Amino acid sequence: FKVLRLILGDQLNASHSWFKEKDPDTLYLIAELKQETHYVKHHVQKLCAFFYAMERFAVALKTANYNVLHLSLDETCQDKTLPDLLTRIANTHNCTEIHYQYPDEYRLKKQLSDFKKNSTFEVTAFDTEHFMLPFERITERFEKNKHVTMEHFYRSMRKQYNILMDGDKPHGGKWNYDSNNRNKFKKADIAAIPQPKLFNNDVSSILSRLKKHNVSYFGELENNQVPWPLTRKQAQSCLAYFCEHLLKHFGQFQDAMTDQVNNNASLYHSRLSFALNAKLIHPLYVIEYVLREFNANKDMISISQVEGFIRQILGWREYVRCVYWINMPEYADKNQLNATQTLPTYFWDGNVKMNCLSHALTQSLETAYAHHIQRLMIIGNLCLLTGIHPDEVDSWYLGVYIDAIEWVEMPNTRGMSQFADDAIIATKPYAASGNYINKMSDYCKNCQYDVKQKVGEKACPYNSLYWQFMNKHRSLLEKNPRIGMVYKNWDKQDEQLKERTLAQAKHYLTNLNKL
Ligand code: FAD
Ligand code: SF4
Repeated sequence: FKVLRLILGDQLNASHSWFKEKDPDTLYLIAELKQETHYVKHHVQKLCAFFYAMERFAVALKTANYNVLHLSLDETCQDKTLPDLLTRIANTHNCTEIHYQYPDEYRLKKQLSDFKKNSTFEVTAFDTEHFMLPFERITERFEKNKHVTMEHFYRSMRKQYNILMDGDKPHGGKWNYDSNNRNKFKKADIAAIPQPKLFNNDVSSILSRLKKHNVSYFGELENNQVPWPLTRKQAQSCLAYFCEHLLKHFGQFQDAMTDQVNNNASLYHSRLSFALNAKLIHPLYVIEYVLREFNANKDMISISQVEGFIRQILGWREYVRCVYWINMPEYADKNQLNATQTLPTYFWDGNVKMNCLSHALTQSLETAYAHHIQRLMIIGNLCLLTGIHPDEVDSWYLGVYIDAIEWVEMPNTRGMSQFADDAIIATKPYAASGNYINKMSDYCKNCQYDVKQKVGEKACPYNSLYWQFMNKHRSLLEKNPRIGMVYKNWDKQDEQLKERTLAQAKHYLTNLNKL
């Protein structure tokens, strides 16, 4: 072969222009690599999902008569790094050129660009053709260390790609329908939540390989099956299911949480994040499909639901990717609140008395999934209020979630949820007391703590921790006009109560592992 083309585990994009032609002199390489299993400790479902999706993609390419070399851990255990692997395979097959697609993670991008600089092969890098905004256009809209409003970015993307637009006006007259959305579940709503669309991807052989090669992992895997969509066909079927059963209430219950359903229930969320991030399905394909369903079923699906969903993919997803690339590598070291605590032990077993946290952690460990608000306002909120070091928080999130790849995990975690990034993403911290959790969930009803209490044995930990957080960071936050009112409320409180609240928080902080 003349050319060796590398396909990474999150580059399973069958629509890439690489596959528009079949060159008999090109060999495609898809390889399980130990290097990718231990840069952080991963959930078993995440490891199995990537290896399974890679295997299926290799089979699909072979069936379509491309030359493909799929290597398992058994066949790459001698290759310590990706460059070692590329060099060995290129030499074995007498390739003179190596092609790769830009990795979406800084660590890998650097590793491959260093390889490109020093290699004796002719090495060429290609765009992944996956995101709506081409990589080289990020610098037109973003600047290092500067906050860009998501709303502003999102509206410009709507205009640029003519999505949900009537001429230059937003379809339906409004850019944002959040005020119609974000309800809590009532009892009757819970009974009506549809079952999630699950798949039976058997990963027994992958699991044996992980064990054989001493790959350490955590989390659970039921019946050796990964239920996430791991092929393009499964992703399409998951999207169709979402449009038929879930989209009509997506925005309405986007932030709602309940412990009255089994842990696999992802409520009205799409479960598409792995498929999107592995590039099995293109964001524009998802958006256009959703728009077609909306246009055909306007009596059933309202604009509020559709706009809410498109905002996540065309807005948030593209936005965090830009924030990541424009600010790396310095972004990974940001810790503006000087958080220093270590992650409590219950992050690894869910064994904590706080019902909301226990539910969100247990669900994450069992299913490699939690929805946005569980990640942000339950788990992230606890880390923020208790001052866990953002490196620890990042590693946990990067390991646990099925969809976690650094470009999307880090801005969401370090930036949005931990407010560690010098306010590049969020202009104020997503800090909340138990009141917010009670407003959006039924967790508090089944909790040993009392959400209404700030002090005392049964006081909800979020309450006093919230006030100590606001108090501790007053000099930084008080100037923010969006937060000023909070301090006015605090100052009005009785001195004794304030002292008792801070003492309560101190008690929780010293006993962080026993909450
Ligand atoms: P839905 O709720 O159905 O949303 C549809 C799609 O929109 C998602 O599949 C996703 O591609 C996109 N999306 C929604 N919100 C965001 C967001 N904030 N940023 C980027 N894309 C978004 N998402 C990841 O893909 N990987 C991560 O590692 C990740 N880490 C997160 C960490 C924290 C602290 C928070 C608050 C959010 C994180 N998210 C991450 C965003 C979001 O939680 C997940 O995308 C979502 O829960 C995936 O489930 P779903 O496919 O059912 O999403
Ligand atoms: Fe969570 Fe507090 Fe409610 Fe318990 S009382 S579920 S800890 S918010």
